[in-house]
Amino acid sequence: MAEQNPFENSRKQLKKCADILEMDEGIHEILRNPMREMHVSIPIRMDDGSIKVFQGFRVQYNDARGPTKGGIRFHPEETVDTVKALAAWMTWKCAVMDIPLGGGKGGVICNPKEMSAGELERLSRKYISSISMIVGPDKDVPAPDVYTNPQMMAWMMDEFSKFSGKNQAGVITGKPLSIGGSLGRGDATARGGLYTVREAAVDIGLDLKDATVAIQGYGNAGYFAAALCEELFGCKVVAVSDSRGGVVNMNGLSAEAAQAHKMETGSVVGLAGTEPISNEDLLELDVDVLIPAALEHVITEENADKIKAKIVAELANGPTTPEADEILFQKGVHLIPDFLCNGGGVTVSYFEMVQNFYMYRWSEERVYNRLDAKMTNAYHAVLEASREYNINMRTAAYVVAINRVVESMADRGWF
Ligand code: GLU
Repeated sequence: MAEQNPFENSRKQLKKCADILEMDEGIHEILRNPMREMHVSIPIRMDDGSIKVFQGFRVQYNDARGPTKGGIRFHPEETVDTVKALAAWMTWKCAVMDIPLGGGKGGVICNPKEMSAGELERLSRKYISSISMIVGPDKDVPAPDVYTNPQMMAWMMDEFSKFSGKNQAGVITGKPLSIGGSLGRGDATARGGLYTVREAAVDIGLDLKDATVAIQGYGNAGYFAAALCEELFGCKVVAVSDSRGGVVNMNGLSAEAAQAHKMETGSVVGLAGTEPISNEDLLELDVDVLIPAALEHVITEENADKIKAKIVAELANGPTTPEADEILFQKGVHLIPDFLCNGGGVTVSYFEMVQNFYMYRWSEERVYNRLDAKMTNAYHAVLEASREYNINMRTAAYVVAINRVVESMADRGWF
């Protein structure tokens, strides 16, 4: 398989959409590049007394619709191209969700699994202070992403507040509740994605009560997706996995038991009452709904033809390559593209920003209802575009999002 560059993939997807919209070449050029890209070197005193210098990035892709928004990843294989692609996707994600925000993303090359809590705290604090001049509640608002969590957001918010000389709850979202986090943020990505699965199921005539589901990845998105599949639809989760491998039981398994097993042993592998399955084979199971909830590029031209699911709900960012997209479309798989399917996280982040600005707390019910409305509207806007232009759901999501971004750029007089 050809080496996949995520930024080149995101540009390929943009180009496809630009062709459909017969976009002006200059406007296309604006959208092909991030508006701002910052690289930082972050020296940290490690627990053993040595100094280690970490490389970090913050990319602000496009702020035509509002302050830039997007998570921070702490990942050993982070690259600036991944961060750029993810920042572009955040721009389209906020636009397709119709929230008044632009897109950004951050990343630090590090392996949090091998770092102590103290080292992670120092890295979190230094990272936010290194990029402090370009972030802020009405400039650019980070959030959790791969291997970052509410505790790290709290350290970053605290650090930023300290040198601002005032409480700056709104500089970051995904915070703990005690310092201005929103109810419902924890499972928002999974919950929002499942609202779109519910709409897709109606569309293809699938009764979710009898449906089977396989989930790749058992982090925040994957675990909540499994638990909520049971809670919201009563459907059967038959396989789950994490970076060490997967487990399957075609009669169904318990999301809570898998989570308890992972907490105890570090992995879902070995869960009682299941058979082992590889991450690759899990994708090819004969299930109704497949939820890739881990990393990029897992559905490729090599395995796309073997996917048997009727609905592929992309909770991960970029799990399907452009070549695989075409194959799935030809096969009639109903794909809910990443920046629509996983838009629930940033949507509740936006609710968190609103609550922080107003210093007010919403009930969980209010968050869920508003999230449902946003996800449902976004799903139907994309479905309508896919029918109007006779294009697949990913390209349709681009069409909806990019039309909105271009309209804002035009209204602001950027061209
Ligand atoms: N990291 C999440 C995403 O990729 C959430 C971003 C946010 O809440 O700003 O959508």
